[in-house]
Amino acid sequence: MPEVHISTHPLVRHKLALLRHKETDSKKFRELVKEIAILLAYEATADLEVEPVPIETPMAPSQGYHLKETIGLVPILRAGLGLVNGVWEMMPSAEVWHIGLFRDERTLRPVEYYNKLPISPTVNVCLVLDPMLATGGSAVATVDILKKWGARRIKFMGLIAAPEGLQRFTEAHPDVPVFVAAVDDHLDENGYIVPGLGDAGDRQFGTA
Ligand code: URA
Repeated sequence: MPEVHISTHPLVRHKLALLRHKETDSKKFRELVKEIAILLAYEATADLEVEPVPIETPMAPSQGYHLKETIGLVPILRAGLGLVNGVWEMMPSAEVWHIGLFRDERTLRPVEYYNKLPISPTVNVCLVLDPMLATGGSAVATVDILKKWGARRIKFMGLIAAPEGLQRFTEAHPDVPVFVAAVDDHLDENGYIVPGLGDAGDRQFGTA
């Protein structure tokens, strides 16, 4: 069974409502994306392995834990960029690999135009970042690229999913857990999520 985690955290719900609001300006929007990304990353990383390490507090020798697994953040350009900032603050040693895709208007399929993956996988876990899981096309294609490249453990993290995109993604990649703040009602005829929040890229970058 595909794992789909829809956050029920009160802070996520509160911040998501502010994010959706049409009056929320670009600066506030970016801040909220970053804050929600931190909260979702907390949930998406809950199963990462740690290893015990000896430490010395000012009071006594003790034992703590180190993150055992290494993480690669894979933002899908361009809207995924805003999610990087928050997650990276929590995991400063994560590597960041950008993937750029555009939709071929003739075939309607995503076409890769930018790929900053290293030659072979250098991390244990890849976290794909895209705020809107709308049709699912870009997310499916990105995970296809990562799997072909040799990534073994992949997770997807976004803000809002449409039921259509979620279904397409989990059918294509049932082994990839999905972490989102909400699943909305439907996609409109232009591929926008309703009620959604509009264009996540435009609202972050002030290009609306
Ligand atoms: N991309 C967006 O930015 N918003 C949507 O609603 C769908 C795709």
